[in-house]
Amino acid sequence: MTQATQWIFMNGAFVTKEDAKVSVYDHGFLYGDGIFEGIRAYGGNIYRLREHLVRLYDSAQAILLTIPYSMEEMEKIVVDTVRKNNLENAYIRLVVSRGVGNLGLDPASCKEPNVIVIAEQLALYPKEFYERGMEVVTVATRRNRSDILNPKVKSLNYLNNILIRIEASLAGAGEALTLNTEGYVAECSGDNVFIVRNRVLWTPPAYLGALEGITRNAIIEIARELGYVVKEEPFTRHDVYTADEVFLTGTAAEIVPVIKVDGRVIGDGKPGSITHELLAEFRKRAVTDGVKVYPERQPVT
Ligand code: PMP
Repeated sequence: MTQATQWIFMNGAFVTKEDAKVSVYDHGFLYGDGIFEGIRAYGGNIYRLREHLVRLYDSAQAILLTIPYSMEEMEKIVVDTVRKNNLENAYIRLVVSRGVGNLGLDPASCKEPNVIVIAEQLALYPKEFYERGMEVVTVATRRNRSDILNPKVKSLNYLNNILIRIEASLAGAGEALTLNTEGYVAECSGDNVFIVRNRVLWTPPAYLGALEGITRNAIIEIARELGYVVKEEPFTRHDVYTADEVFLTGTAAEIVPVIKVDGRVIGDGKPGSITHELLAEFRKRAVTDGVKVYPERQPVT
C-alpha cells in the first residue's frame, strides 16, 4: 500500500513533506526567532482555532513580527491544510519564523517571514496515562522570568522548556513541575498545572510565568459552568503535595491526572474524580467547540 502524500502549507502553496525545506539562514533556525502554535482537530473540528490564532498574533505583536496574512486568511489556511490531508483527528503545527536573513542578530535583514502549517495524524497518548495517572517531579530549572522572556509568548525559543523536559526524563518522570524565580509553581515543560483541594480548583496566574494555555482556559470555563470555584492564584509545592487531586492540561495531553509529585502520593494515589469529570466533559465538548473543516459532511450521530 502506498502512503498518502502529506501536504504542508509553505508561504502560499502546498508542498510535499519531502519538499518542505527551510534555509539554514532562517532566523528561526539560527536564533529561535519566531513563534508557533500547536492545535488539535477533533472529528473534523479544529478545537478553539480562533483562540490559538489570537495567541499567535499576540505573540507576533510582542516580538515585532508581521504575519503576512490576516487572522481570517490564516484561519482558512489552517482549515485548508487539514482538508488537503483529508484528516479528521489531527495535530496541527503552525510556525511563523522571522525568515531568511544574514548571520547578524538584527532581524532587519529578514525580509519575509516563513509561514508553515503542518497537519498530521494524531499520535494519541496511551490510555493508561489517563487511567492510572502520571508521576511528575519538580526540577531545578526555573521557568523563564516574565520580565525577561515572557512565557506568554509562544516563541520558537523553547530551550528553557527543553531543559525542564530533559530533567523530567533524567528523573524518569512523565513531566516536570517548574517554579518561577520566586519559588511559586509556574507550569510544566509543555503543560499547565491544576490542583484541587476541598473541591476548589487552583491554577497559577499566567503573570507568574506560564503560557496561558487554551486547554487551561477551557477547563477554567468548564469547571465554573459545572459549579466549581476556580482560583487563579499563586501556590507553592507544599500546596501541590497536600492537594486532593493534581492534573495537567495541554493541547496534546488534554487533561492528564497526576498521582505522585516528588515522591509524595497525591490523594489515594489514583486519578481523582473531579479530574475524570473534567476530562469527560472536555472531550464531549471538543468535537463542537471550534471551526468545522468539512461543513458539507453530516455529523455522525
Ligand atoms: N505550557 C507550555 C509551556 C506549552 O508549550 C503548552 C502547549 N503545549 C501549554 C502550557 C499548554 O497550552 P495549550 O493548552 O494551549 O496547548
